[in-house]
Amino acid sequence: MGKAITLLRVPVHDVTYAETLIAIGQFIAEGGAHQLCTVNPEFVMAAQEDADFMAILRNADLCVPDGIGLLWAARMLRQPLRERVAGSDLAPMIAAEAASRQWRVFFLGAGEGVAAKAASILKARHPELIVAGVWAGSPHPNDDEAAIEKICAAGPHILFAAYGAPAQDKWIARNRDRLNVPVMMGVGGSLDFIAGTATRAPRWMQRIGLEWLHRLAHQPWRWKRMLALPRFAVAVARESVISDR
Ligand code: UDP
Repeated sequence: MGKAITLLRVPVHDVTYAETLIAIGQFIAEGGAHQLCTVNPEFVMAAQEDADFMAILRNADLCVPDGIGLLWAARMLRQPLRERVAGSDLAPMIAAEAASRQWRVFFLGAGEGVAAKAASILKARHPELIVAGVWAGSPHPNDDEAAIEKICAAGPHILFAAYGAPAQDKWIARNRDRLNVPVMMGVGGSLDFIAGTATRAPRWMQRIGLEWLHRLAHQPWRWKRMLALPRFAVAVARESVISDR
């Protein structure tokens, strides 16, 4: 696995998509419970004000660099990351790998019917995919028990949790010891993209680092959360000036 750098105290592993899939295979071979987080600038800024979330990211087994802003920041701090590993691209890749390696996948969260639709679309794409279970539930701790029961009965190798950040990552962290799931990953809106209930930016926008702009145009209510982007840029620039002194 690639080394980790830290951006404003948040670890980010210098991994590629291919290396992430290899790491997932290793976690499954090892067994136990592992948490994978898809870090972007919103995560980093949220963690500055949320000690729980910071601890979760620092304790995660793998933090992939989701979010082009992290790559810019890493370059500025002269600790470049090789590749953006977007959770929304990674989740379908993991499903493809799971199908060929007979890893059982559980889909937790997302809106009404979305996880089931995403699972059936992936199953149509990869007929060998084993959908261990689907459960919408909610990120509220009162609903943990029901979800844990379903997941333990299903015995998946991989759990996709779609409650948005940081709720999904907190869900995994507080329940991981009760679940014998080798790979647990917060997938944000990925199931909506697979199910077609949300659309991703066109490839050309992703390529030039403007996926966030597409998101802002389609989900304008996110503007407040997205202020994390300029705040992140300023905080990293400040850190880079300090480290140059
Ligand atoms: N979600 C949910 N329950 C909640 C909050 C969110 O199931 O209480 C789901 C939501 O329907 C969506 C997913 O969480 O499918 C991720 O939402 P979002 O796009 O906001 O997450 P992000 O990508 O920003 O982490």
